[in-house]
Parts: sequence; structure tokens; C-alpha cells
Amino acid sequence: MNLYPKEYVKDIRKIKIELLNKNNIKGLILDVDNTLIDYYKNFLEGTEQWCEDLKKQGIKMCILSNSNKKEKVQSVAQKLDIPYIFFGTKPLKRGFKKAKTILQLPSENIAVVGDQIFTDIIGANRCKMFSILVDPINQKDIWITRLKRPIEEYIIKQYKNKNK
Ligand SMILES: [Mg+2]
Repeated sequence: MNLYPKEYVKDIRKIKIELLNKNNIKGLILDVDNTLIDYYKNFLEGTEQWCEDLKKQGIKMCILSNSNKKEKVQSVAQKLDIPYIFFGTKPLKRGFKKAKTILQLPSENIAVVGDQIFTDIIGANRCKMFSILVDPINQKDIWITRLKRPIEEYIIKQYKNKNK
């Protein structure tokens, strides 16, 4: 099982068109919690502009969230004007396949962006999609996520050492 992301950036705004072009990425599958919004449902400043800029450059986007809170996921999607899938069951392939159908792109042209190894990154790797790990926006997670963080931090540390 491949636990490592292909790329790591501090937050989504650091994902620039050059990085995507270099890796032949034409579409993004975006996580919501702690990737696009924080625990209090606030966007990182400049997220809408970032999204708009990439869309203008021809990058397609789709939200894939494990959250079962439809209204929350929908409101994020509406704000960015992109399609969404909620209750996505990552890292299972099902949600990624759905997102792929929406994006109408082959897996090798899709990058999955998220803050969690065990859902976003493993799922992307299993589906042979590019994977981009971001730092979680803030540390106040729901309890199930909080349990996984120390293990993730260990893996991320290994990954960073490996890439030094
Ligand atoms: Mg997340």
C-alpha cells in the first residue's frame, strides 16, 4: 500500500498551474474539511480567486468529501461553482470513480488534493491518480480524525526525510 503523496504543499493556494502542467494534471478532486474550509467553515483567504484562476487555465474541479453533511459540502461547492460529491467513502474507489466521471478525464490527468493520508492520499494512489497532500488548515478535528493524526504525522515525517 502506498502511503506517500506525490507532492506536498502547505495549502491549496500553493497549487499553481506550473505544478499541474508539469505533471500533466487537467483536473482536481478536492477534499473539503481542513483542505478548503476549517472547522468553523471558513475558507482560507484567496481560495475563490485561486479556484477561479485555475479554472480559467482549463483545470476542471470536483469536490469529493467524506462528510455526510450535504448542506455544508453543497455550500462550499456553490461558492466555488464546482460539482460535488458528499459522503464520499474515501479511501474506497467508488467516490473517486464518480468524480472521474464528472471530470471526464483519465486517472493519470487527475490530482487528488487533501489533508489526510488515510483517506485522500491512499485513495488517490489506489486509483492511480496523482496525490497532493496539504497541511490541515487547523488542528481542531473531529475525534476520528484526531486519532489518526499522530500516525499521519509520523508518515509525513518519513516522507519529508525521504525527499531531502
Ligand atoms: Mg480533510
